[in-house]
Amino acid sequence: MNSTQLSTLLSDDKNSVWHPYSSTHSDTPVFAVKSAKGVYLTLEDGRQLIDGMSSWWCAIHGYNVPELNDAITQQLDSMAHVMFGGLTHEPAVKLCKKLVEITPAGLDSVFLADSGSVAVEIAMKMAIQYWQALGQSSSQQSKLCNKQKFISLRNGYHGDTFGAMSVCDPVTGMHTLFSGILAKNYFVASPACRFGEPCLEEQLEELKRILETNHELIAALILEPIVQGAGGMKFYSIDYLVQAKNLCKQFDVLLIADEIATGFGRSGKMFGCEHANISPDIMCVGKSLTGGYMTLAATLCSRKISDTISDNPPHTFMHGPTFMANPLACSVALENINLLMTSPWQENVKRIEQRLKNELEKCRELATVDDVRVLGAIGVVELKEAVDMPSIQQAFVDAGVWIRPFGKLVYLMPAYIITNEQLKKLTDAIFDVLKDDPKHGKH
Ligand SMILES: *Cc1c(COP(=O)(O)O)cnc(C)c1O
Repeated sequence: MNSTQLSTLLSDDKNSVWHPYSSTHSDTPVFAVKSAKGVYLTLEDGRQLIDGMSSWWCAIHGYNVPELNDAITQQLDSMAHVMFGGLTHEPAVKLCKKLVEITPAGLDSVFLADSGSVAVEIAMKMAIQYWQALGQSSSQQSKLCNKQKFISLRNGYHGDTFGAMSVCDPVTGMHTLFSGILAKNYFVASPACRFGEPCLEEQLEELKRILETNHELIAALILEPIVQGAGGMKFYSIDYLVQAKNLCKQFDVLLIADEIATGFGRSGKMFGCEHANISPDIMCVGKSLTGGYMTLAATLCSRKISDTISDNPPHTFMHGPTFMANPLACSVALENINLLMTSPWQENVKRIEQRLKNELEKCRELATVDDVRVLGAIGVVELKEAVDMPSIQQAFVDAGVWIRPFGKLVYLMPAYIITNEQLKKLTDAIFDVLKDDPKHGKH
């Protein structure tokens, strides 16, 4: 593409294309990508950037991975898609079987969806339908049917659809505008006990109190295990997750683990729940499920939940996406998981964790930096004030890296295959950009 074509592309983009969480009049530049391979993005103007984001947690093996390309092209030769009502196919069956195998024990039924937000909607509907169905089969019918609310953690993020928005942080969740239409749910403070620390009983008191008082109205607790992602990039105590699971059990409330960001190794364990050695009743996966190739997500639940919903009127789970179990997406997801399981991903994530810890630490000496934290292949530099997006975005691209901050958070979650040298370029760029232009941390 020559420079005239590129400027036409970018002005057409500005005229008609809406980007995520953005204004059509934004000053923040967008960059046209021509191709991507390994951890490199090649821009239309010829520049190469090292990618620090793996496209929002997704591209865990990097881009243009031969095995994943093959999986998708082979599948394309037999069929791109068929409806999933009344039909089934090998890619979907193999994928669901694999998901049951690798997720925590007791998650036996898989419902496929197209995106993370929808997987969360499905989880919430499953929880509500479970209590309704259980009510049908017991003498407590009217009572159990009241279990239609949710409890979640502040600083949580679960997606952008209406159900998901209703359990996102009500303040930082970017959805206050819709508060008039959102279902009213319960919130507890984000866990004060950090990862690696014990959790004192008082730090669970609020959760316990709300469950104690309102459990008859609450279908489920929904949380992101260990890592709160887009709602603040916080890592919390394993103890908290263990105790939260116990409280759910004690008060007859289901636990929904939203592993859409944490799933597939990102936090150092295959799933965030494994840190605490717990099995949730319902689990959502998405994002890196297909290695960043196609949009696909899944909601898993216990046999007890799927049986209870199926055995009682209306004997149907009330959901069915048009593109459910898309064969291309299922094939690439299956190959993505096989590739992960046969790769030394634990070593890679550990190596990345150690490097991020060593190399981001020096950011603490910058006056604009409030905190530096690392867990698994996630490195976070939290600033005292929100960054100035237009200037910091340009500065990172000029430094040859793709890093996309939000609010006060400048963070990395690279592909697991990134080399130490490539990673060093990312961490150096963060330090240099924050150091050279302190204004990034002041606006
Ligand atoms: C990204 C994310 C979602 C939403 O997924 P989409 O695919 O963007 O709809 C839900 N929960 C968590 C924890 C996420 O990180």
